[in-house]
Amino acid sequence: MTHTEQQHEAFEKDEKYIWHSMKPYNPQGTMVVASGKGAWITDIDGNHYLDGMSGLWCVNVGYGRTELAEAAYEQLKEMAYYPLTHSHLPAIHLGEKLNELLGDEYVIFFSNSGSEANETAFKIARQYHQQKGEHQRHKFISRYRAYHGNSFGALSATGQAQRKHKYEPLAPGFIQVAPPDSYRRPEDHDVPTRQLDSVQEIERVMTWELSETIAGVIMEPIITGGGILIPPDGYLKAVKEICEEHGALLIVDEVICGFGRTGKPFGFMHYGVKPDIITMAKGITSAYLPLSATAVRRDIYEAFKGTEEYDYFRHVNTFGGSPASCALALKNIEIMEKEKLFNRSLDVGSQLLSELQEQLQQHPYIGDVRGKGLLIGIELVKNKETKEPIEVSILNKIIANCKEKGLIIGKNGATVAGFNNILTLAPPLCLEETDLNFIVKTIGEVIENVQ
Ligand code: PMP
Repeated sequence: MTHTEQQHEAFEKDEKYIWHSMKPYNPQGTMVVASGKGAWITDIDGNHYLDGMSGLWCVNVGYGRTELAEAAYEQLKEMAYYPLTHSHLPAIHLGEKLNELLGDEYVIFFSNSGSEANETAFKIARQYHQQKGEHQRHKFISRYRAYHGNSFGALSATGQAQRKHKYEPLAPGFIQVAPPDSYRRPEDHDVPTRQLDSVQEIERVMTWELSETIAGVIMEPIITGGGILIPPDGYLKAVKEICEEHGALLIVDEVICGFGRTGKPFGFMHYGVKPDIITMAKGITSAYLPLSATAVRRDIYEAFKGTEEYDYFRHVNTFGGSPASCALALKNIEIMEKEKLFNRSLDVGSQLLSELQEQLQQHPYIGDVRGKGLLIGIELVKNKETKEPIEVSILNKIIANCKEKGLIIGKNGATVAGFNNILTLAPPLCLEETDLNFIVKTIGEVIENVQ
């Protein structure tokens, strides 16, 4: 069978058997990916692409790390499975390692996906308040444009109507407020993207919803899927203070920002706060195996240690913290530390950001180029003065043309408000200098020539 016949057959069977997420939205067309090395992937026809999105923002150490496969294999041979209703050494060692990264104050609940980690956080927060006798506290505040997952609780916290409206009614008690947006001021556009008054809005919701009904506030340190919205420096700290004042927990979703994506082990570390609960997934194993974690401040965990059976956290999953995933996660973190990928992400990320800014800023479509570490957003507008978002068809062309030239990039924003206008980059943290040059050159050429 020739390569082309083989590919044809794979596409035919793919069409027949696989229900893809987001398929109609994918302007690049479906790729059947066969292998990867470093920041590059190869499809079944032998085409190479630099994966500027690390899959779904997750292959942080890059592709083709055989050490990770070996760590999982060794563990599978030794002891493939036991549930965490009891314990096993890989989970214990990973719990200890995560505490070392976080600052030694957290107890870890393992699950399998980012959605599940957030779902777990909501249940822990609600039950924690119950344990303390604060029975009214059940609501959560989150932000427009944020994505927190696909399950009902995580989707209820999500502030992107386009992902929610077909599945309503969702879970009650989730309230969204405006996120800060350093590019758009209120007078620029009538959309929920304001800067510092975003903090005041949280304060206002605490008052108007009665703060004694609020269980917690959930936010990413930097909104990722909603278009790389980087908060002003004091924002997260101000939110934490409001939470403390009103007795609510601060849950920080590190599903994308964690594990070096923004140039530190976790994104919240840029902002001088200690969250009450931290959720993580994706980069914890660089997505080589499924694993997620909900890290809970020790004293919150202690509140569950009542004497009655109903004081237990009645939440269990079969696969969470499986031995092979934990062993692989430990090796993944070891690689990040050995190769200094956290620092690398900061250094290479700032170089990539400044080169993109320099290359693109003169172009009439470019409204803003922003980022932290290897998390970068390029916001495209029709007019730099009015900041009116550009049509999504132009973004789709840019993405398709980049793919033609061998570069995968992403598209994010807020579809319902017409803000589907942000190109995103989140390449593997092992990005080489030549890869960086390739990204800048390709995006520059494609944007220069797009009509
Ligand atoms: N939180 C954030 C910030 C995410 O970006 C995602 C997924 N992209 C999730 C949670 C959900 O993670 P998962 O897809 O693993 O359920």
